[in-house]
Amino acid sequence: MLKPKFYFLCLLVILFTLLLSPYGLISKNIEVEAKDLGDVNKEQRLLVFYNATIIDGTGAKPIENGVILVEGERIKRVGQSNQVEVPKGVIEINLKGKTILPGFINSHVHHAYTEKNLKNWLNAGVTTVRDLSPQIEVTEAIAKRDKFNQRADLSRVVSASPILGVPDGYGNSTFNSMQEAKEMVNGYIDDNVEIIKFAITDFDQNRSWEMPTFEQVKTIVDTAHARGIRTSVHITNSQHLQWAIDLGVDDIAHMIVNLLDDKTCNKIIAKDIYWVPTLELWKRISKMYNINYDFIARINLVKFYKAGGKVALGTDFAGYKADFDSGFPITEVKLMKKAGMSNMDIIIAGTKNAAFVCDREEDLGTLEEGKIADMLIVSGNPLEDIEDLENRQMVVHNGEIVVDKED
Ligand SMILES: [Zn+2]
Repeated sequence: MLKPKFYFLCLLVILFTLLLSPYGLISKNIEVEAKDLGDVNKEQRLLVFYNATIIDGTGAKPIENGVILVEGERIKRVGQSNQVEVPKGVIEINLKGKTILPGFINSHVHHAYTEKNLKNWLNAGVTTVRDLSPQIEVTEAIAKRDKFNQRADLSRVVSASPILGVPDGYGNSTFNSMQEAKEMVNGYIDDNVEIIKFAITDFDQNRSWEMPTFEQVKTIVDTAHARGIRTSVHITNSQHLQWAIDLGVDDIAHMIVNLLDDKTCNKIIAKDIYWVPTLELWKRISKMYNINYDFIARINLVKFYKAGGKVALGTDFAGYKADFDSGFPITEVKLMKKAGMSNMDIIIAGTKNAAFVCDREEDLGTLEEGKIADMLIVSGNPLEDIEDLENRQMVVHNGEIVVDKED
């Protein structure tokens, strides 16, 4: 039997350990940490970021000598220094000629339900990721998402369902009938997934797969849309694009790897379907097997982009047995550049358009009044040199300064 005194001692030790844990005093040891901004209640705290060039993610001209006023977790004002009235007593952050962009969003990843991956992303300025099929049970994934999304030191997770498909088909959650497909979609939405993912493919990864029927996948999309939930479809072959168009899916999760014809391209644009190219995936696969998927994907991407298609950045991190960029998706960015996208449109793909495919465009993706203050601050100017996106100086997430290289 332990004595009460000993219990008290144990309690003290536990409390002290908690105090020194990553949430407490020795958080200095971890790379990503919230900057201590004093005792002011966060809800009312005002931060002003000034003396910066602002690329707001909308595609508008950069704001020179820009100021962003942040109240609590949201942006209160954005503009030129002479347009923004800064109240007295705010915490001032002089950015000395640096560039502020919206926090980046990687809209096609896997393995997002680990603190290590979320820290790597946040530390690199990727403030949100969309996980397009968890490697763990959905309920466990959602519980982790809800817990992790409370924390300032981790990138925000947007959760999709597993990939719905038929038995012997592509996907990891199978249905046998329209009724089952409908129940499955409703079940995942009840579990609080934010996106429904499904597959239309009969050949992938060098093998053939059973195809769902059109009626089955129509049931998936219609059921999700009836509940206000967007859909993302895995397609890699051009012959399946017509189904995506007829279904009215919200985004296509990969660029196709055979040639895209003009007519189909224009129909996708007319339907306002977003495309997430995952050029990094195709590059890694092409290198592994000595094939030219990466080249074709880039040709298709530039055709879609030049015709006015909306591109959202996503890499398929950990979606294949290859080493993907684990922090900033610089390989994807460089490949978009190589394909022929402008620096401004690459930034839009990684911010505004990626927020759209996450179904979070009301809150995220641009630096506008009322939006959540997620910001990537870099030295240099990514409009002149896109690789400046990697010159991270500061990261702001939910209105907290989580990375500050000047510390
Ligand atoms: Zn994937």
